[in-house]
Amino acid sequence: MPNSLLRQIPKVDAIIASAGWKTLVAACPESIAKDALREYLGSLRLAIKEGRATVVPSIKEIVKDVGARAAALMEPGLKRVINATGVVIHTNLGRSLLAKRAVDAIVKVATGYSNLEYDIEKGARGSRYVHCASILKRLTGAEEAFVVNNNAGAVFLILNTLAEGKEVIIARGELIEIGGSFRIPDVMKKSGAVLKEVGTTNRTYIEDFERAIGENTGLIMKAHTSNYRIRGFTHEASSEELVQLGKKYNIPTYFDTGSGLFYNFEGLETLDEPLIRDELKKGFDVISFSGDKLLGAPQAGIVIGERGCLEAMKKNPMTRALRPDKFTLAGLEATLLLCLDARSAAAGIPTIRMVLEDKDALAKRARRLASQLKKSCPGETVSVVDIYSEVGGGSFPDMVIPSVGLALRPSTITIDGLEKRLRHLPVPVVARIEKEVLILDMRTILAQDEKDLVAGVASVLTNAR
Ligand SMILES: *Cc1c(COP(=O)(O)O)cnc(C)c1O
Repeated sequence: MPNSLLRQIPKVDAIIASAGWKTLVAACPESIAKDALREYLGSLRLAIKEGRATVVPSIKEIVKDVGARAAALMEPGLKRVINATGVVIHTNLGRSLLAKRAVDAIVKVATGYSNLEYDIEKGARGSRYVHCASILKRLTGAEEAFVVNNNAGAVFLILNTLAEGKEVIIARGELIEIGGSFRIPDVMKKSGAVLKEVGTTNRTYIEDFERAIGENTGLIMKAHTSNYRIRGFTHEASSEELVQLGKKYNIPTYFDTGSGLFYNFEGLETLDEPLIRDELKKGFDVISFSGDKLLGAPQAGIVIGERGCLEAMKKNPMTRALRPDKFTLAGLEATLLLCLDARSAAAGIPTIRMVLEDKDALAKRARRLASQLKKSCPGETVSVVDIYSEVGGGSFPDMVIPSVGLALRPSTITIDGLEKRLRHLPVPVVARIEKEVLILDMRTILAQDEKDLVAGVASVLTNAR
């Protein structure tokens, strides 16, 4: 039986000679169409051999299926998804969304020439590092500032420049792993610096640091424990103590603050998240942080601090390998300009706006979407519930913001099945499961997502019936 079926599969030449094929290759590159055809015939043969296919499709049906496969091959792999997780800075979903101003600035330098490395005053070659420097200095009070590709790159560059072949003293409780295999001890090793950990997991005193200082000490480092907290019987050396110690022994001090908080979230319990300006005032020689966490800008690593340290970093040959592109610089500068005024930051920077978003406004949107869903899929349970969102991105590790969500309890499929089907929609919806219900958190669902979200959820619920 399979052999006779296999023989019935139309010949490639016959398929390619068909009218349908001609229409198909008018719409997509022939090589893509042929790849898709080869894949299709391969899986058809396999399905016949394994007894999963018992009829051979017509040429017309084959061309239709190949057309769909070819279209899928031409779709970009990186695409929009709807973030219904409530995690505002979701590293897996692209972290911060950009301010409109930042996007406009990026479009300008992307579609026209710019003075990226051109000094307009002098009419000669300039430096790309000047572009964000002046606004960063204004916002933070730093003597000097410069930008690299991301904060992991900044950490590496700082360690390599200031402490290659020398010891870096850091508290044992701060030897962090950020995720994606970024671990302070490993980065330190690659940078050529020698890790000198002091204290215990939960308690470290300034005396521990002082005792560890020796001939070969190159740097005193502090790392923000971005994604966890040590609670209970704890002690850490304060920023002020570390700075004082550095000055006493003439050793530079460096603080990796992680998130890059510029906006003062009054009323939210931000007590543990360091405001960049305040930390610099305490006297650190160098501070570094991410562009795409709480700052709400493009991916970048921002370094601010003492001129001598930063000039040495700029001369490091590795700097060239970590340099930011013009899109990053344009988007970052526009975002930083919004930070000059707290109101424009809160209104214009999506990350900040979403963290601040009022619960009543979220509840109103949730009720509207719930009624639309109930209308499109009668009989399904859709309710509006009080929940908590997270900031994410390693910021505010235990801060949860009161939020509002839609809770779904599908009548014919499991919760896991629903979660999976939502992920496979044309515009994937990433949701979370809490206590056997599927939650769509309104905080991270954008206004422009609402239509696709309702249509997608409704199609999944109705098709499952
Ligand atoms: C997030 C983070 C990093 C890594 O920053 P990227 O911008 O993701 O490269 C480094 N250190 C700390 C403390 C962080 O929170």
